[in-house]
Amino acid sequence: MGRILGIFCFVLAVIVTAPLTFAAPGAVRCGQLLDVRSGRMLADQLIVFDTNGTITALGPAASTSAPNGAVAIDLSSATCLPGLIDVHTHLTGDPNSSGYQGLGISVPREAIIGAKNARLTLRAGFTAVRNVGASGYTDVALRDGIDAGDIEGPRMLVSGPPLGITGGHCDDNLLPFEYHHKAEGVADGPWAARAKVRETVKYGADLIKICASGGVLSKGDQPGTPQYTLEEMQAIAEEAHKLGRKVAAHAHGTQSIKDAIRAGIDSIEHSSLIDDEGIALAKQHGTYLVFDIYNDDFILQEGAKAGMLPESIEKEKKIGRLQRENFRHSYQSGAKIAFGTDSGVYPHGDNAKQFGKMVEWGMKPIDAIQAATIRAADLLGWSAKAGALEPDHYADIIAVSGDPLSDVRVLESVKFVMKNGAVIRNDFSAK
Ligand SMILES: [Zn+2]
Repeated sequence: MGRILGIFCFVLAVIVTAPLTFAAPGAVRCGQLLDVRSGRMLADQLIVFDTNGTITALGPAASTSAPNGAVAIDLSSATCLPGLIDVHTHLTGDPNSSGYQGLGISVPREAIIGAKNARLTLRAGFTAVRNVGASGYTDVALRDGIDAGDIEGPRMLVSGPPLGITGGHCDDNLLPFEYHHKAEGVADGPWAARAKVRETVKYGADLIKICASGGVLSKGDQPGTPQYTLEEMQAIAEEAHKLGRKVAAHAHGTQSIKDAIRAGIDSIEHSSLIDDEGIALAKQHGTYLVFDIYNDDFILQEGAKAGMLPESIEKEKKIGRLQRENFRHSYQSGAKIAFGTDSGVYPHGDNAKQFGKMVEWGMKPIDAIQAATIRAADLLGWSAKAGALEPDHYADIIAVSGDPLSDVRVLESVKFVMKNGAVIRNDFSAK
């Protein structure tokens, strides 16, 4: 009996782990395929990939052959797109444990929350994320666990603890003085901030996240108020770039956005109170703007239940609509926009709900999709391998029913997910 159980467990283990660790050469046949670069919808396409999970060929099914007679996965009733990318996630964050409720969550528990959310995010069609802030390097462990095939999740670039000033948005201000508590990323002054960049890189960060201005979910500050100075941000950007890392700056405030861009920061997160000068500077410097315009509704409707402080709800009421208006204005002004949602503030796996908001606030569906594919890949530094279905790119493929160019909300119901040539889910085969 024990041996039978053992064999059963072995078989089960192979079935469960195989898609995570081994990719077979193969092909996917798509009824429709969105070329995200041109915005053209192509009919009846075959995508061929090798044992490394890299796309080797792509073209009309009639004239493209699968390798060694491999049977193509039949998605002839579906529309294929490249795997989506969210450039602003907090996979180790639990949306139901904000404010004081979050103090009861240990670092090991946070890592396990991350494992759950990585799976939810991948299965929602997001095959890559940039994670911008986590405690105890849980994001580094999560990234490495996914890369090793231990757990299921998207490709990750991670920041480790976000850098910020004492008492700022990236500090932890919930406890009184006698607890002598501060967040891991607190660093004041240019040299302390440089040292913190070095420390964060030492422990595995792929990028640096900083807090340039106050925020919504922190205690005792205001989103519009500057926190890091221009001088501090210049030191951070120079040190990070020297070490081959990009920098993402949380910045709601008008002045902080401009200081961060002038300091050479690579992306502005939230961008809520950006003005015309800020937009012009972003265009001039090639800085990406990220607007998390879906989660406002969640904060106002569910935030109090989730433990968010009353002051956070009040701050959101003041800033949410302005952020959406400035998103529309920045888009119409031709600024570079990447798709980032701040998942963890709202439930993981709902990332695609932001597409509908972006279109509602003036963006064309193809531009919203580009923000989550080729633009996001560019911000991550992954243009040569992710964000498009092309030879030499990862076989990271998703499929939906319907046409996302006429109804972008079909991306909220992704039915097929492939990562690196391995099928993660295929709801089309169930029929
Ligand atoms: Zn965030």
